Parts: sequence; C-alpha cells; structure tokens
Amino acid sequence: MGLPLLEDLPDPRGKKVLLRADFNVPITNGHIDDDLRITAAMPTIEWLQERGADITACSHLGRPNGAPDEKYSMDPVRERLKQLAPSVELMENLRFDPGEEANDPAFVDKLIRGFDMYVNDAFGASHRAHASVVGPPKKLPSAAGRLLAKEVEVLTGLIERPMHPFVAILGGSKVSSKMGVIEALIDKVDHLAIGGAMCFTFWLAQGMSVGDSLVEPDWVDACKGFLDGPSKDKLMIPTDVVAMGPDEEVKVFNGSVPDGWKGLDIGPETTLAFIAPLERAGTILWNGPMGMFEDPRFQEGTVDVAEAVADSHGFSVVGGGDSAAAVAKFGLQFRIDHVSTGGGASLELIEKGDLPGLEALRKASNA
Ligand code: ADP
Ligand code: MG
Repeated sequence: MGLPLLEDLPDPRGKKVLLRADFNVPITNGHIDDDLRITAAMPTIEWLQERGADITACSHLGRPNGAPDEKYSMDPVRERLKQLAPSVELMENLRFDPGEEANDPAFVDKLIRGFDMYVNDAFGASHRAHASVVGPPKKLPSAAGRLLAKEVEVLTGLIERPMHPFVAILGGSKVSSKMGVIEALIDKVDHLAIGGAMCFTFWLAQGMSVGDSLVEPDWVDACKGFLDGPSKDKLMIPTDVVAMGPDEEVKVFNGSVPDGWKGLDIGPETTLAFIAPLERAGTILWNGPMGMFEDPRFQEGTVDVAEAVADSHGFSVVGGGDSAAAVAKFGLQFRIDHVSTGGGASLELIEKGDLPGLEALRKASNA
C-alpha cells in the first residue's frame, strides 16, 4: 500500500506524538461494553513508548454534532486507557468541535500545535476526510500505526491475493449499503452468499413474494443485474427463511413469505447450503448478520454461519460492526483470523481499494 510506517518516523525519543486512535467504543450508562478498539491500539502505543515518545491520543466518540455533550465525554475511555497505558494523555472528543467533521484547516492547526509527529491508528475512521485524519499528515512527519497497517494489509491482501476457493458471505439490513461491495467482490470470489434482510430485495428481483420483510424496491434492478449477469452462478440466494407472523408465531417458509409475515433469519436448508463451501474454502470474508440475531429466536442462521467460519481451515476475515459484535457474543473471535475494527472503513476499502486517511499518509513529507 506504500504507507509510511512507524519505522519511517524520525527518532521519537523525547518527542511529542499525536496519536489519532479509533476509541469509538460502545458505551452503556458510562460503562464500556467492548474495549477491543482500545486494546487494539496497544501495539502502536507500546512501540512508541519503548522508544521514549510522549504520546497524546485523540479520538471521536459517537455523534455529538459539533458541540460538547456530556453523554459523549471521553471519560470512560480515559479511565480504561489509564489502566492500559498510564502515561498516555487523551484529548476530549474531537467531534465536540465542528471543525473536525468539516475538515477545517484552523482546527487542524489547533490540533497539531506543540506536536512533533503524527500517527494514524484509527482504521475505523480512515474512510472519513475529517480534520484529525487527513489534516496532520500535511504538516507533520506521519505514519500508519500497527493496527491501521494490519487492517490494510489483511483487507487489500484479501482482494488482491485470495487463496481459492474464495467464499464471501454478506448479510445485514440494507442491500443498498452493500451493493458496492458485491460489485467489487463478484469477479474475485468463487461463491457469494446473500443472507440477512438484503436477500429479500433479491427475492423481489426473482419475482418471489416477500410478505412484510424489509426490502429496498429502488435496488431491485441492481439485484436483477447480478442475477442475470455473467457471474450469476456464483450467487447463493436463500431458498428458505424463518419468519414471524401474526401473534408472533415463528415459522420456516420455503421460497416465499406470505403477507403478514416478516422474514428475520435464513432457514435451515439455506444455512446448510451457505456452510457447505466453507469447509474447503481458502479464504472467507463474512460481513453482515444472517438475520436479526439480537433476538435469540432469529439468531440460528448467524450462529451456525459464524461457527462454520470459525471451524474453517481457510483464512477467515469478519468485517462490519454488527458482525463483529455477533462473533464476540458467541465467543468465536479468537477462532477467526482477522476481526476488523472498522465497519464502514472495511467495506469502503474493499469497495474502492483506498481510503482518504491512507491517501493523506502517503502524501506526508516523510513518506
Ligand atoms: P454490519 O454492521 O455487520 O455490516 P449491518 O449493519 O449491515 O451489519 O446489519 C446488521 C443488522 O441487520 C442487525 O442489527 C440485524 O438485526 C439486521 N438484520 C439482519 N437480517 C435482518 C432481517 N431479515 N430483517 C431485519 N433486520 C435484519
Ligand atoms: Mg452495522
């Protein structure tokens, strides 16, 4: 990718380093639900500390809309960071200032004042051309941190040099948010399975009835394009689904969902079909839950696929915030080769092959 790495920085001993991290962790009632994004920054922090750097970290948290908001204070993150790396300072939420999202040069100047170098380890924010992501590399010697470099290496490697058979499993709620990824993957993969609510727009395109399931009618033609396209034989579309009907009755339907019923998980026949190619897969990419897994009645498809991905001998990558949460919920994260810390960023990197934050680093004066 040609990114400047930590080794490409001037000697950091006694220097002030600005570290852009992605500490945008899920927080409920002031309590961190999952600290993966904080622990994931530790290799970079340790590398810099071993070389005598003086580190100040910065991150956004949630969507405070450009003004201070107690609800999005970095305090819970600061507390956790103090346990992991006591001498690292942490700035207040970058998005408390409207200059962050507006990429305001004056905000960049304020941010970098007093710093000697900049490290971007915020993979999950690198698809945003925000001030703290794209601004500092124009002014300071800059580098990609370990986490950012690893994410980029894994995800670009997946697209450029996959071991075959390459199986992609996509799911989640909106087909519109994954169309670009389907487009980018269809020529590279051997099988592409479509689960989650997005399968119903494909069903509509096939002329099947979907009842009250989630669909995006504007995307039916795009789905048709794939179903009739040159790679149509690679596509795997569900043949049965689990749906909920009147009085919360739950039932499996083969091939069509009647009015009054809403498809909320892939069915057992579909699960078996999706799992089958995973056994001898060389590479697996999974993005998006197979159903509304937050409700145990509709978690089966997601659990079974997650377990098959974990069991596979192929190189397995999970991308997407909700998919990563599902993997963690079922305790499978240690049996997956790479769980990406970036939802939107991992999709955009697969789709476009580059991110604004990476471009900015490549243009840094020391790169
Ligand atoms: P990711 O964050 O992994 O990329 P998405 O954000 O695209 O995944 O989608 C995750 C959401 O999709 C989950 O909250 C899940 O409940 C929902 N979902 C999956 N399948 C269905 C379905 N059939 N009907 C409604 N919602 C669904
Ligand atoms: Mg999501």
